[in-house]
Amino acid sequence: MLLKGWTKEITRAACRPEAQTVHCLARLEQHIGEVIPYLNAVLGGYTYVLEPPSVTFRSQGKLISVHDDHIAINALQDADEAEKILLWLQREINDAWEKRAEITPSFQAAPRPQVMAIVKLLPKTNCKQCGQPSCLVFASLAAEGGKGAEHCPALSPEAREQLAAYLSRFHFDG
Ligand code: SF4
Repeated sequence: MLLKGWTKEITRAACRPEAQTVHCLARLEQHIGEVIPYLNAVLGGYTYVLEPPSVTFRSQGKLISVHDDHIAINALQDADEAEKILLWLQREINDAWEKRAEITPSFQAAPRPQVMAIVKLLPKTNCKQCGQPSCLVFASLAAEGGKGAEHCPALSPEAREQLAAYLSRFHFDG
């Protein structure tokens, strides 16, 4: 087992005391830099930094960044949610480390959905039924994994299937 434990610090953004979400900084008990390219290969990082190695994932509106000696997660509801994500990451990290001989490490970010390709698959009526001001805004959120085909009520079943198929070509964890 590579990652055995961590110490968690939970904070609320000082610049936005009214914010409903918290940040988590987990200081790791072990150095995990060597596993990061393997973790990136398995989970498909949103951004990847070569030196010092770090990988960032976006999931359900959260940004999760994994570094050699710490993990940072933002936009959390509470400490329990932070712990769940850390335990999931621990499993992924330790699995990737155990199976590293079978994994080709990746030193770049995964391909991302293209906003304009998503717009083309939307009705383009800017009807706001999805709660967004325009189809373009919806497409930007979908490109980052924050929205899926099921969130645009104006799509026909066929168009919804097409958009879902396009988005499923990209990897969103969590
Ligand atoms: S519901 Fe669909 S068509 Fe209407 S604005 Fe949102 S994305 Fe565009």
